Amino acid sequence: MLQLDVLSAFAICGAGSLVGASVLRPSLCPEAAGAEALRLTRGGYIAIGVGLTLPVLLDAPLPLWGQAVMTLGSVGGVFMLAWALAALAGNAQSRTSMWCSLVAVLALVLAAYPAGTAGQSIACTLGLTVGSVLMAWLSRRLLWRPHDLHERLIGVLTALMVFSSVLRIAYLLTWNGHFEHHLLYVPPSMITPFTLMYGLLPILLAMLLNNVIHARLLARLHKRATTDHLTGSLTRHALADGAELLIARQQSGENRLATIMIDLDHFKVFNDRHGHAGGDAVLCRVAELLQAQLRGDALLARYGGEEFVALIPVPDLPAARRVAERMRLALEESNWSLTVPGLNRVTASLGVTLLMANESLETALARADEALYRAKNGGRNQVQVSLAAA
Ligand code: GH3
Ligand code: MG
Ligand code: MG
Repeated sequence: MLQLDVLSAFAICGAGSLVGASVLRPSLCPEAAGAEALRLTRGGYIAIGVGLTLPVLLDAPLPLWGQAVMTLGSVGGVFMLAWALAALAGNAQSRTSMWCSLVAVLALVLAAYPAGTAGQSIACTLGLTVGSVLMAWLSRRLLWRPHDLHERLIGVLTALMVFSSVLRIAYLLTWNGHFEHHLLYVPPSMITPFTLMYGLLPILLAMLLNNVIHARLLARLHKRATTDHLTGSLTRHALADGAELLIARQQSGENRLATIMIDLDHFKVFNDRHGHAGGDAVLCRVAELLQAQLRGDALLARYGGEEFVALIPVPDLPAARRVAERMRLALEESNWSLTVPGLNRVTASLGVTLLMANESLETALARADEALYRAKNGGRNQVQVSLAAA
């Protein structure tokens, strides 16, 4: 097996960290926790990269400032990674706590300086171990309750960091060779495996971090595209997507698909009397009440400003009419003064139809809209059924 010396090991591990930082460079995250994880991981990798590559550029013995950069960079970088993964795991810690812990550990390392190279090396390796243990502890959710495989793999990497740190402490405490200013006191045969691990780990972690952040971003975009921001009902776009599945099921089963259009009565007046915020509160409560009348196999979407559409599998038109009537009553009988003080009554007009075989959703909606128009003209607060669907 290729036998590396400590200097080459430093160069490879430092380069791995710098590559890890560059892998993350183009990544963006609008979510605060993800953005913090990205920032701190990038910063941590640059600190470790600079701390480890610097000794390669300087002649031995390392000058005092070189030792300081190496210690600060590697220990500081590991602490930044710990705070980064804590944020990723939804356990964000304040920046102040990070700087305080870091200063405390660096003070310990500096306090060991009068003890000579051996004492300094032990203090520095201990600092790195504390950082690794903190990293695994603060981000433990990633290992125990991960949301996906990538989160779990990040958790496994943190456990590997702890294991390798403990192993290095064990090697260090039984070290009987010469003490120099470096951080890798392991038997010569172990230098290559450690180097490969510490060189690849930052790149792997950066790739996994990117995957986790992209998965979160996609989930967020999907939610934005399919959920109405105000009411939490489906968007019109999501209704069209969900309808495809309901229509396919309806064609292969016994049930028909009721298409119900719901329009609040005189809604403009609510806005005028109770303000836009009052109107918004009414819309949210309306969505809640309508959804409560539906089973899990039905879809409810906010179709426009104060218009909703429900798609409901039903056996026949009378059943569709009954559901619509239930929705109308739920709105009429709700205690609205709890939603907006001073508001007594909210009603809606509903148009009902059944989707015919081989008919598009748009055509059925146009029929429901026609029935709704009759409900409005008939005095509002009522259900009208499209005669074409009888
Ligand atoms: P009708 O009984 O004939 O349906 O009367 P209407 O006042 O409900 O009818 P119209 O469609 O003319 O008015 C709908 C109002 O809904 C107009 C608009 O200000 C209001 N609106 C639409 N979207 C929102 C929203 O997101 N929040 C609030 N607060 N109001 C909205
Ligand atoms: Mg309207
Ligand atoms: Mg209206």
